[in-house]
Amino acid sequence: MIMKINNLNYIYNPNTPFEKKALDNINLEINEGEFIGLIGHTGSGKSTLVQHLNGLIKPSSGAIIIDGVNITDKDVNLKEIRQKVGLVFQYPEHQLFEETIYKDIAFGPKNLGLSDDEVDKRVKESMELVGLDFEALKDRSPFELSGGQKRRVAIAGVIAMKPKILVLDEPTAGLDPHGRDEILGEIQKLYDKEGITIILVSHSMEDIAKLVQRILVMHRGKLEMDGKPREIFKKVDELENLGLGVPQITKFMKIFKEKGNHVNDDILTVHEA
Ligand code: ADP
Repeated sequence: MIMKINNLNYIYNPNTPFEKKALDNINLEINEGEFIGLIGHTGSGKSTLVQHLNGLIKPSSGAIIIDGVNITDKDVNLKEIRQKVGLVFQYPEHQLFEETIYKDIAFGPKNLGLSDDEVDKRVKESMELVGLDFEALKDRSPFELSGGQKRRVAIAGVIAMKPKILVLDEPTAGLDPHGRDEILGEIQKLYDKEGITIILVSHSMEDIAKLVQRILVMHRGKLEMDGKPREIFKKVDELENLGLGVPQITKFMKIFKEKGNHVNDDILTVHEA
């Protein structure tokens, strides 16, 4: 087991008129190599939860154990945790800042104190993993790129840290359908090649259905469902009550597959029965 969450609660602005319980007694175990989709309506607590996973937010109560280390301990090495758990924020391209793509991706590995050769290797590898041409792009400014490509640079910067767990918060937000499919395709390839544990956050059932092996559904700060995509997608009425439609999943999946993408075959048959 790579991650265990025990009785996690989080309250924003406690003891003020703006008090808001964002996480309500979350319990969760994640095994190494799992590809997980975390889904829920806007405001259900997804971002709050994933920001706990690398120590950006401290729980109001409860424990988070990652790779045997309780990251809620006072004296935990946060740098080590952040290297282990790579978090790609929403709109990660807003955090690009270096003058070249190379420097941007190299920033994290350099901070780890790695040799120039190792940094170089990691930049090349991670660019390849997200489908960016190293030679053609390394000296260009990240700001000249398209939205989807900028996002790939940002993801490459996190992958270059070689995290054990990669958390992607709404990686397709704001992209057009083509850009969305591209990013999802790259994430799938990354998973197939590297076999790392991935947590993909989304409010889109469609995106989630394309890739993951296990779905976590959040609602009002609670973990309401946890299961295989096939089991979760069958609960159409329950999902609709949680504000999550299941719009013609099968049709979308077939088109996506026809375009040559990997599709979770389990899903294709859910609505055929
Ligand atoms: P999601 O990622 O699923 O959209 P969030 O984790 O962002 O959900 O939000 C969960 C709840 O916490 C929401 O009710 C939201 O309004 C509230 N919330 C989020 N961030 C803050 C904040 N910085 N201060 C106060 N309340 C917040």
